[in-house]
Amino acid sequence: MCRLLSPTFNNQNNHNYNDVSTYARFDDEQVLRVDVTDLAQLKQLEQTVEKHNLDLWSNLRIGTVDVRVPASKMNDFGTEVWSQSSVMIPNLQELIPEQPPAQLHTQNEWNFTDNAFWLDYHDMATLNNFTESMIQAHPKLVSRVSIGQTYEGREIFGMSIHGYRNRKKKETNIGEYYDEREEDEKDDDDGGADDLEEVGFEAKIKSWWSWLFGPARAFKKPSRPSKHPKTIIIHAGQHAREWIGPAVVTYIAKELILGYPSNKKIKRVVDQFEFIIVPVLNADGYVYTWETNRMWRKNRQPTSIPFCPGIDSNRNWGYLWNTGGSSPNPCNEGYHGPEAFAALEAKMMADFITKKKNVVGYLDFHAYSQLWMSPFGADCSQTPKDDEDIIEGGMVAAKSLYDVHNKKFVVGSVCKIIYQASGGSIDWTYAEGKVKYSYGIELRDTGRYGFLLPESEILPSSEETMAAVVSLASFIRKREKLWGHKY
Ligand SMILES: [Zn+2]
Repeated sequence: MCRLLSPTFNNQNNHNYNDVSTYARFDDEQVLRVDVTDLAQLKQLEQTVEKHNLDLWSNLRIGTVDVRVPASKMNDFGTEVWSQSSVMIPNLQELIPEQPPAQLHTQNEWNFTDNAFWLDYHDMATLNNFTESMIQAHPKLVSRVSIGQTYEGREIFGMSIHGYRNRKKKETNIGEYYDEREEDEKDDDDGGADDLEEVGFEAKIKSWWSWLFGPARAFKKPSRPSKHPKTIIIHAGQHAREWIGPAVVTYIAKELILGYPSNKKIKRVVDQFEFIIVPVLNADGYVYTWETNRMWRKNRQPTSIPFCPGIDSNRNWGYLWNTGGSSPNPCNEGYHGPEAFAALEAKMMADFITKKKNVVGYLDFHAYSQLWMSPFGADCSQTPKDDEDIIEGGMVAAKSLYDVHNKKFVVGSVCKIIYQASGGSIDWTYAEGKVKYSYGIELRDTGRYGFLLPESEILPSSEETMAAVVSLASFIRKREKLWGHKY
């Protein structure tokens, strides 16, 4: 068995957990919410953040921006920029455990078939245990997918979840198979899956109209993968401290797997798509947040500055890399790396997508802000040629999400919602990876707790996101069929 299966930290002996001082403290640090009303203020804030190496909690945008400010820099910050800021979190340390949380979570045996697992956050070893358990317990539905290795030598792996392989041998003609599924779907009366009908005839006409005459997409067919089954890739954990991401993504995997035999809607999407779910892409960073510093965001690769390790992999993807909204400073949380795809996490996922060739959906989960974002983030003069379908898919997802616990998610491109950010995953997956439905999602909350979202919110956040994913998958299939693509 590999060390990742170990229920406790493999390198536990290298850390002195009894010494509470090993876990970074944030006494007298505050998270401020700044009101940014125009571009000039935004530029000024960007410069201040860069100059003082402040930690941005939300993305730079016109609107509200959350920044972590240590007491020692509060004066500079106030005089240089901001009278128009309010305090979101008055004392950050109060929300952070005194000792490494790995010490507090000692349970090794989990029953993954009920929701108890989603009442707590879990360390890397426990999340890996979950993934391995799902693979072992459901061999007909789930197989193991290895993505690559991190700088510290951890294997990044996940689950391929697909029901079609159960029937594959019986089927000789994929077209026939999917037509049969279509008949099945017409008989369905469980409501929610009929996303296209909800948007109605009008949307169909609009789509065809704009396909024929629309300025951005005239005479261009949407991009599409070339082989079956179409794949939807879901992952979280590019940013280490965004713990809600891996929690939600493991829940989605659990629901797809355990819901398959009994839930008609889930069975349909799992038969139609291969879901590849990777709970934590930046495992080195995630482990670091459990052992050393709860506020760590980047990966753990060395940089040109010895005391400032870590590249922000979500500013390091290779489409229009380093063209704005990322930092050249290795000590900055948004450091974009020395060159495109220097971050192993971005590189391994991009290589995986390129090799796969049949990826139609890509969902990269982050926190926080409650946003369902689409390309582009680097060049804000660009609009994807498939923009209408992509945005509509986002709206369908956000609506289903809202219906579960009434949480509002804003839908739109990175450029429209948060200004500019280059080197993000979804720009690359759409433009280079040919993944039509590429989304970056910022989960709960809107800033009350930020990255320190209470554990009581894991389950509701998971439930609503699961609803969004299933509806989005149904939408993708229906929309692509409308374009004449076999599904
Ligand atoms: Zn993030």
